[in-house]
Amino acid sequence: MVCSLHKPLAMTTPTPSIRTMAESLLVSTGQAIKHGVASDDTYRYRLATCFSCEHFNHKTRRCGKCGCFMAAKARIAGDPRMLCPLHVWQR
Ligand code: SF4
Repeated sequence: MVCSLHKPLAMTTPTPSIRTMAESLLVSTGQAIKHGVASDDTYRYRLATCFSCEHFNHKTRRCGKCGCFMAAKARIAGDPRMLCPLHVWQR
C-alpha cells in the first residue's frame, strides 16, 4: 500500500478529457483574441495562485481541471472566471 502523501503528483491530478481540454482551448483562444496579453503583475499573481492550488500538476505544469499549460494560459488577458475552471483567480 502506498501512502497518499507519497503518490506521484500525476496520480493526484488526473488529466481531463479531450473534450474538456478542447473546450478550454476554445475559451482561452477567444479570450486571447478579444483581450490580448495580461500584465506582468496579473501573470505573476495567476501563476502563484496555481502553484498553491491542489489541482495544479507541478510535474507537467498543467491544470488538472482544464488541462491547460498554465505558463501560457496565465498570460491571456480577459475574464479570470472564464479562464480558471474553478474561478479561483481573482484577476
Ligand atoms: S487554473 Fe484554477 S483550478 Fe487550475 S490550477 Fe490554476 S487555480 Fe487551480
